[in-house]
Amino acid sequence: MSTFSKPPIPPHILKLQALYHRLPQTHKRYHHVEQRVRNELSGLYGESRLYYPLSKIPIHHRVLQNVRLFLHSSHFQIDFLVITPKFLLILESKYYSSDLMFDNTVHQVIQRKDQQEKVFEDPVLQAEEQAYQLAIWLEKFGYRNLPIEYYVVITNPQTRLKIDPTNNHHAESVILPQRLPSLFRELVTKHNHNVLQTNEIANLADTISHNHQTYSPDILKINKINKEDLLKGVFCETCGERGMKMLNFRWHCPACGHRSRNAHENTLKDYFLLIGPHISNQEFRNFAVLKARSTARDMLIKVSTNSSGKTKSFRYHLFYRFDSKEFHYLSHFNELRNK
Ligand SMILES: [Zn+2]
Repeated sequence: MSTFSKPPIPPHILKLQALYHRLPQTHKRYHHVEQRVRNELSGLYGESRLYYPLSKIPIHHRVLQNVRLFLHSSHFQIDFLVITPKFLLILESKYYSSDLMFDNTVHQVIQRKDQQEKVFEDPVLQAEEQAYQLAIWLEKFGYRNLPIEYYVVITNPQTRLKIDPTNNHHAESVILPQRLPSLFRELVTKHNHNVLQTNEIANLADTISHNHQTYSPDILKINKINKEDLLKGVFCETCGERGMKMLNFRWHCPACGHRSRNAHENTLKDYFLLIGPHISNQEFRNFAVLKARSTARDMLIKVSTNSSGKTKSFRYHLFYRFDSKEFHYLSHFNELRNK
């Protein structure tokens, strides 16, 4: 009944992983970046816990994940949007790392961990705001008065929730994944007439997908890191060490002896994620720590889709699809690092 498949890792997380991989441990932003990578990967894991319950919705539906739409000079983002014939459902997935207390008077979430308190924005207010913005956005496309439900799903199985039962605002809207199947049944009963036909569900899903704007920030800029601070060189895919050397047209790893003809390809992907899609011969040699200009040129010609400029401004154009397997190496390097 569901037409939903697991999406690829979003570009901003790939960029963050590449940054983590290329930032010296002594850098002042290292722990900040490390924490952000952990949080993002935990969030992805949390979202993946919703896939199974979402595949069991008892009526025809479409699920869109990580929808980012433009409205009134800014963007709003929805983790999961479920479109059914009777209603739309927004699910805001939250992966908090420890116990939570919800405060309805000041609209905050308070997390206690190791005798320290951390305060977060109220996720129910966030979801409510998303529902409000989605309603306005939909009106612009001619969809009026579609019922929009919203819930916050706490996706870390270790999190204990503390919600005062008189706090209706949170008690009714903050749920655990195991509550989803009964929630779907209740919503289907509550909304007893159809507002969208099957073809209208497909059209609406297409309209939203078509207007989705992927978040792909300048990751160095938003983390306040200079490109000169990044680690240079080619990483070994076998042992994870940096500093492969070019000998007789092959890369050699001084640490483990691994040899490779194409180890520089991941280096170029790192460059693409962290700095951008245009690279000169000199920039490549500097980033990969490679001496031979002609070898660098052959490598760049092989991977680039195009080139532009004359002599000094000459640049090769790199192009990789974010939704492809091109960036699987980042998870691989992350695993090698954590061994
Ligand atoms: Zn090696």
